[in-house]
Amino acid sequence: MKALVKAKSEKGLWMQDVPVPEIAPNEVLIRIERTAICGTDMHIYKWDEWAQNNVPVPMVVGHEYGGTVEAIGSTVTRVKVGERVSGEGHVVGNRSRNARAGRFHLDPDTKGIGVNLPGAFAEYLALPEFNVIPLGDDFDIEIAAILDPLGNAVHTALAHDLVGEDVLITGAGPIGIMAARVCERAGARRIVLTDINDWRLDFAKTVTRRTTMVNTMDQDLKAVMSDIGMTEGFDVGLEMSGAKPAFDQMLDTMLMGGQMAMLGIPASPYPVDLGKIVGKALTLKGIYGRQMYETWHKMLAMIDSGLDMKAMITHRFAARDFQDAFDLMETGKTGKVILDWTQV
Ligand code: NAD
Ligand code: ZN
Repeated sequence: MKALVKAKSEKGLWMQDVPVPEIAPNEVLIRIERTAICGTDMHIYKWDEWAQNNVPVPMVVGHEYGGTVEAIGSTVTRVKVGERVSGEGHVVGNRSRNARAGRFHLDPDTKGIGVNLPGAFAEYLALPEFNVIPLGDDFDIEIAAILDPLGNAVHTALAHDLVGEDVLITGAGPIGIMAARVCERAGARRIVLTDINDWRLDFAKTVTRRTTMVNTMDQDLKAVMSDIGMTEGFDVGLEMSGAKPAFDQMLDTMLMGGQMAMLGIPASPYPVDLGKIVGKALTLKGIYGRQMYETWHKMLAMIDSGLDMKAMITHRFAARDFQDAFDLMETGKTGKVILDWTQV
């Protein structure tokens, strides 16, 4: 089969012929139809420090996908051949305290497909039955391919009660934008989304309905807060940029006793004004991945009741034209970019 492989320890990805994965008795073979490119894939593509330290070479990359079940292992009972599916990309163990207690998303032995297990930028993917998410025949295959990052957005947004609350989201990447739309649907009061990139904020306006966009390079966040009628701080903060200035701004604008959920991954460690966290009695919660499988349940329920994320998809390429897609991703002027694996 064809697969996009991190074949060399240098910038780039290479379309190669590799064997179709063999499935274990508890695994499912998925024929991949669409994939989406994630920021993580860009780290691996560019071969930055994080990628060099975390990704063995060679490795088939990619973890955002939709496809159809091609074959099932001998012990698989929950999933049928021919079903439309996506899947949880974090493969957990069964040894740790958290895994044994059913807190699968907190298992320290977690491995990521497309990072340290063979990934989904390929014609076929082998996945444990436990991780397969059946979607129904009518489910939009492109939406199937963006459920993984939508799950990050849903997990972070729903980490704290946001009904009737004022929410600050820092970072209008795909996940920040999807989180804003999720907050709108979930009943937040005011929602403010910040970035330093106008293209991203303009694009975010096409996906969201009632979120206030702020470019913090040329707008004063506190002035915007007062313009939209806020007299105190944000009740809930969702950090989705990984950038220190965004985090500092969040600390400065949170209400005393506010709740923060941290998804953004800093490129390198940065100092934090702990005195502000203590003095404001803030709660900070780190978010990793998606909750298995409560996030998937909530996300699919929200889609079923009208959450429409189609506008997030801005570009589509045949898988064979992957290089054009990665070049475009590097410009930063994209929503979600889809690769079509029926065109290899
Ligand atoms: P992205 O890189 O596309 O988006 C980040 C955005 O933050 C960019 O638009 C950037 O312009 C913006 N930004 C930079 N500096 C800023 C500032 N000072 N103020 C406001 N915005 C600023 O990333 P994404 O794919 O949307 O993911 C969001 C973050 O979540 C990334 O840091 C990513 O690495 C991380 N992530 C974490 C997990 C997890 O499990 N914890 C999973 C997926 C992604
Ligand atoms: Zn991803």
